[in-house]
Amino acid sequence: MAKNPRLVPADPRLFRAQVVDSRMLTPSLRRVTVAGDELAEFDHLGFDHWFRLFLQLPHQDELYLPAVSGRKWWTAYLDIPEERRPHCANYTVAAFRPAEREMDIDFVLHRSAAGELEGGAAIWADAARPGDGIAFLDQGALYDQPDDTSEVLVVADETGLPGAAGILASLAPHTTGLLIQEVPTRGDVRELPAPAGVEVRWIVRDELDSGAGLDGAAAHAIPGRAALAELTRLESTADTAYAYVVGESDLATSGRRHLRRLGLAKERIFFSGYWRSEKKDALQPA
Ligand SMILES: Cc1cc2nc3c(=O)[nH]c(=O)nc-3n(C[C@H](O)[C@H](O)[C@H](O)COP(=O)(O)OP(=O)(O)OC[C@H]3O[C@@H](n4cnc5c(N)ncnc54)[C@H](O)[C@@H]3O)c2cc1C
Repeated sequence: MAKNPRLVPADPRLFRAQVVDSRMLTPSLRRVTVAGDELAEFDHLGFDHWFRLFLQLPHQDELYLPAVSGRKWWTAYLDIPEERRPHCANYTVAAFRPAEREMDIDFVLHRSAAGELEGGAAIWADAARPGDGIAFLDQGALYDQPDDTSEVLVVADETGLPGAAGILASLAPHTTGLLIQEVPTRGDVRELPAPAGVEVRWIVRDELDSGAGLDGAAAHAIPGRAALAELTRLESTADTAYAYVVGESDLATSGRRHLRRLGLAKERIFFSGYWRSEKKDALQPA
């Protein structure tokens, strides 16, 4: 949750919408477009504006939603009987078009080690059809650079790409800095609108050889490791930098640790483990 009240919705509320389009944006990301009259009241803040997304599961006959009261929703969500409880996952506004009352959501289509699509949200997105209903609970933005920031450093795996793209598109034109963006394949690399002074450095996971990173090819199979390796190559940051590190939990926590070692104050680092890889547990020595 953002600490800055400016970035937190004054009255967090649920918005309902329907799918109007779904397409593969790149090999790893499916873009689902939703629209609805309620979106007329959505106040898009840009940057990494995110929300809690509620989805109907295949066995459910309708989308049951929790009662939201101020910031409270979790207990009401758990009170919904399990067979009716919607799937809930966190996502970012990839694009918002107020005139059309439309929003794009970019879903990473993540797969199990056996290659099967996994995760309620990823499976839902893959099957999304026009007319399918969704609801989302507005959470505001997390990116919150101090006023005296001299340069920005954004580091993300593919789950952080919608947020990183939103941040770059929202930065003041004179901003300088670096985005380290890891993606699974070359096809996921795309043009990102950004200030001229911000370098966009793509790290393509399936092009890395076993010697390129931390501990070999198996480790590169885990999203975030390659971005972390690139981040740990940095040997200095300005005292007045602002760093934002999101993605798999090790990228977030180890990335923050490296930045602290470089001397960056903790107030100038935002880090968030967006998700946790279970594959990495299998790679740990017994
Ligand atoms: C603030 C915020 C914003 C986010 N924005 C986005 C966004 O815009 N787009 C997006 O795709 N994700 C985004 N995420 C990450 C997303 O919430 C997680 O990836 C989430 O786990 C996906 O839910 P699911 O139902 O598909 O899978 P879950 O049911 O949560 O997980 C099922 C299994 O899949 C594994 N898994 C989950 N995500 C991944 C992944 N990316 N790669 C490999 N394995 C995975 C889990 O370890 C678990 O084993 C965001 C997270 C946060 C906190």
